[in-house]
Amino acid sequence: MAENAGNAGNAEGPAEASAVDGMPLVGESLALDLVNTTFINGGLRGVLVDALATPADLDRWLTNRAGDFSAALRPRLSEPATRAHFERFLELRGALREVAAAHTAGRPPRESDVRTVNRAARLAARWDELLPTGPGGSVTRWSEPDPQLAALGEVASEGVRLFGGTPGQPVHACPAPGCILYFRKTHARREWCTATCGNRVRVARHSRRHRDPQAG
Ligand SMILES: [Zn+2]
Repeated sequence: MAENAGNAGNAEGPAEASAVDGMPLVGESLALDLVNTTFINGGLRGVLVDALATPADLDRWLTNRAGDFSAALRPRLSEPATRAHFERFLELRGALREVAAAHTAGRPPRESDVRTVNRAARLAARWDELLPTGPGGSVTRWSEPDPQLAALGEVASEGVRLFGGTPGQPVHACPAPGCILYFRKTHARREWCTATCGNRVRVARHSRRHRDPQAG
């Protein structure tokens, strides 16, 4: 996608600045959080930012979002992501964005995007096993031993629940001009992805009314 405005290349460790830390909207669910790693900075004539520009950015995203992954997976997410992991996440992000766009437009998603999401969702397959060492112990096993790929699976599975499950909190595309974020309508009056978008639209309406008192 677009060039990252910042220089996130060769990031080393969590001390390095990453656009991931400047995401305008987080906490919508892992699947939407991944989609929302691309955003516009500065409104209608703003700059497209891709917060996932390098594998180090993915490490940062996984660290920031660790609390949303299953507890048994969290401690394993500190291992650095490879270029191959990074590309799988970008592929899933692209597919989830297309599925979100189709979903919010009320049309069926493209088969290839559905295939990408479903293929990744299988990586989340897991079960608990009893430990032979003592009473009461168990351990979670994944069919996919690689923690980053298991995490990819959990993101995809959340996408399946979000777009295929009961629409308790329907997904919306933010209607503010120049915004590309998706959010869950967590309460009936929620209209915008963030207060920033709501304020920007209200200010634009206000100045339009000042220029042209006939306009609504
Ligand atoms: Zn918005």
